[in-house]
Amino acid sequence: MLAGPTAVGKGTVSADIRARYPQVWLSVSATTRPPRPGEVHGVHYLFVSPEEFDRMVADGQMLEWAVVHGRNRYGTPRGPVEEHLAAGVPTLLEIDLQGARQVRDSMPEARFVFLSPPSFDELVRRLVGRGTEDEEERARRLRTARTELAAESEFDVTIVNDDVTRATDELARVMGVTSAAPQVA
Ligand code: 5GP
Repeated sequence: MLAGPTAVGKGTVSADIRARYPQVWLSVSATTRPPRPGEVHGVHYLFVSPEEFDRMVADGQMLEWAVVHGRNRYGTPRGPVEEHLAAGVPTLLEIDLQGARQVRDSMPEARFVFLSPPSFDELVRRLVGRGTEDEEERARRLRTARTELAAESEFDVTIVNDDVTRATDELARVMGVTSAAPQVA
């Protein structure tokens, strides 16, 4: 399970691990947040209405869920995670601290990986640089980030995301997966 503050690069590392270690399956979360440009329903998230999210929670379909950054709800659909784990597929959840704590209680065998920025200033730079949030939302996310950074010691492993390829390879090692042998032309 991969957690870490806003804009630390969880999405980039998750995409990189999927590209270079295709045996890893990345859980697709449900969210009530509207899609950003380029985000695809069923690929980046299941974009659902608040009513649909309520129904999924009430039906016991969420392995964990949380209100993140004091705003939208995000949750991990339970069924696909259980199916992949039962089939022995290396499974990655990219979730926030509150969700990680819930999963730790229900799945003590999971490994908890904290992705950390090289510095807080670097985190601010990345958040401003990606330009997907307005100033109010950025301030909200940075408040959450301070809380999350303070919780690093709750995790089994910390990976500093100073270089995406290196961070991904370290995550793969923690998950016990190896990359395919390079193709010889
Ligand atoms: P974003 O809006 O930038 O896509 O995600 C905001 C935050 O929601 C990130 O910190 C991310 O880890 C968290 N998040 C994404 N999916 C889930 C989920 O299924 N459960 C929980 N608890 N948090 C999630």
